[in-house]
Amino acid sequence: MLARTHDLAAFTALGLVVVLQPERTVTLSTAIAALVGNLVGGITPDIDQPTAPLWRNLPVGGFIGRIIDRLLGGHRFLTHSLVGLVLFGFASHWLLLFLHPVLGAVNIGYVWWAYMIGMLSHLVMDTFTKEGVPWLLPIPVKFGIPPLKKLRITTGKTMETLLVFPGLVLLNLAVYIHNYQRILEILQRHVT
Ligand SMILES: [Zn+2]
Repeated sequence: MLARTHDLAAFTALGLVVVLQPERTVTLSTAIAALVGNLVGGITPDIDQPTAPLWRNLPVGGFIGRIIDRLLGGHRFLTHSLVGLVLFGFASHWLLLFLHPVLGAVNIGYVWWAYMIGMLSHLVMDTFTKEGVPWLLPIPVKFGIPPLKKLRITTGKTMETLLVFPGLVLLNLAVYIHNYQRILEILQRHVT
């Protein structure tokens, strides 16, 4: 799927987790850091693609992207599996601990969860595409929903841009309208 669909899906998943959780108070800096972590998590698995936006935007990105692609076993391999999820979980945890001194009052636990939710949402979304996802690596089987490949989504094509993306936008609207009162209360508590 496209990077923007993945980011929207990551944001949607985070929103759903937040509204389903008992209410907590989060500082503005933690909320912003968690949102950034969530969006980065949403596109992390595609670092195995030399054409990923992250690599395209760097001067020698194409070159680095190709090396990373080889190291990770090619597209839809390690970063698109449960083993990859655990490895990146550890790596991001260490990175956040390392960055903690400069992050000040940011609650890095929340940022980590937001990142992992983003990454998991990526794998779930890719499961609906024609290529499928090798969830159980090293077992080299790619899983997809529905099992019939023909019915799955092709990245960047009509079904994704005209159905999945707008569908996610509507889902977000529904979630925030439904929880409007609660969100208002959280915001008011922070302002006063
Ligand atoms: Zn992917």
